[in-house]
Amino acid sequence: MILAPGATIGILGGGQLGRMLAIAAAQLGYRTHIYAPEASGPATEVSAEWTRAGYDNQTALTRFAASVGVVTYEFENVPAEALELLEGLVPVRPGRRSLEVSRFRPSEKTLVRELGGRTAPFRAVESLAELRDAVADIGVPAILKTSSLGYDGKGQVRLGEGADLYAAWQEIGGVAATLEGFVRFETEFSVILCRGADGAVVHWDTPENRHRNGILDRSMVPAPSIVLDQAERAIALATKAAEALGHIGVLTCEFFATADGPVFNEMAPRVHNSGHWTIEGAVTSQFENHIRAICGLPLGSTARTGARVEMRNLIGEDANDWPGILADPAAKLHLYGKTVRAGRKMGHVTKILP
Ligand code: AMP
Repeated sequence: MILAPGATIGILGGGQLGRMLAIAAAQLGYRTHIYAPEASGPATEVSAEWTRAGYDNQTALTRFAASVGVVTYEFENVPAEALELLEGLVPVRPGRRSLEVSRFRPSEKTLVRELGGRTAPFRAVESLAELRDAVADIGVPAILKTSSLGYDGKGQVRLGEGADLYAAWQEIGGVAATLEGFVRFETEFSVILCRGADGAVVHWDTPENRHRNGILDRSMVPAPSIVLDQAERAIALATKAAEALGHIGVLTCEFFATADGPVFNEMAPRVHNSGHWTIEGAVTSQFENHIRAICGLPLGSTARTGARVEMRNLIGEDANDWPGILADPAAKLHLYGKTVRAGRKMGHVTKILP
């Protein structure tokens, strides 16, 4: 299927990723129609249409599907029933397998292991008794994470020696969870790739990612040598995952760089915060290549545009410093149009460095 420019692309979710996807789509001559339960969001000002409705509203989903040529999404927790309904009416890219595997931690880790990759030791736990067994098996330190819906370090509890497992189980809300052994890593990085509708795969440089309070703080390319030395293995693994999933569009895999090589952490079947640097830092951004892929167009070059590129997230109050940021003529400021709240991703700044 090729969807020619002029057509309308449906996007589930109207946050900043939807906003940046819509901007890339507009540049290629497409219209976008956002579907989200909220009345408005960062994608409001940049999309032609906005349907405000829940993911369980079959009438609204059906009308939405009839108005677009392809559907994509900016988050992986699209409810299964909504996906099923949409799939029967319009191409949904990336497809069902990508969503099913990536929204559940144990299944993405299992896939990666089947493909020959390494993960932290892990066990799925569904009760306090299973958590006790898992801790006895994996040991501490360990991290208990909700298996679905976690983001930016939310839905996670670290367990050390003598940890109160009852309290930890309560803290994550007693929902399906994954206990992971603690990985001793040197740093973190991500593989951001895009698989076209014809199966062609391109990838960008693998950024080193530094986190602060569980939220991405900076992404930098080129990454240090410890990452570069293991990037090829990580890229090969992420490519195999994309192929196994029949993935179309951008796929992001996050890794720990350890002394013994890359350890897979998690994947997102979508554009990712650690790829925002590609807007100015690469010939074709992650957003543009995602749009090209889901529309069946050839993918653009992912070559870096400068010697070094650094992307810094603006969290909460950081965004109020926009005059200071703009005082540097080399800084490229992106604000998402949100009201400032502590811990909220408000925007980012990218710099191409000599
Ligand atoms: P996640 O939501 O899985 O991306 O986790 C958020 C952050 O917590 C990661 O980027 C790491 O810095 C840290 N983290 C997560 N899992 C582990 C682990 N198994 N071992 C060590 N650190 C971890």
